[in-house]
Amino acid sequence: MKVEKLDHIGIAVEKIDLALPFWEGTLGLVLHGTEEVKEQKVKTAFLPVGDTEIELLESTDPEGPIGKFIAAKGQGVQHLAFRVENIDAALAELKDKGIRLIDETPRYGAGGARIAFLHPKATGGVLIELCERK
Ligand code: ZN
Repeated sequence: MKVEKLDHIGIAVEKIDLALPFWEGTLGLVLHGTEEVKEQKVKTAFLPVGDTEIELLESTDPEGPIGKFIAAKGQGVQHLAFRVENIDAALAELKDKGIRLIDETPRYGAGGARIAFLHPKATGGVLIELCERK
């Protein structure tokens, strides 16, 4: 398995509109686009920075993963996403190594990526997303 880069850092926010003044206004990043991913009950906003991106995540449903995260921990860094060349091969390799996966098969992610999450219990407490982009 080859990790190509840190694709993005996912940050849970109460409201994207309320978070943007800091990320755009204060830090000077540029909003690259927003997208609602219904399957994950989340609205996303991407702000490129250097070779990676900040992904702001706003819950659209208190029962969704981001809604639950914020209820438990408040706003903040939620996951790290590593880009891999071949996500199917990467998941098969991790499974072989006994790494606990949240997603055994890739699902749709914002921007048309194929994504899958590893379980934080298998990573020392960090929620890690693998993503493949064509
Ligand atoms: Zn992500």
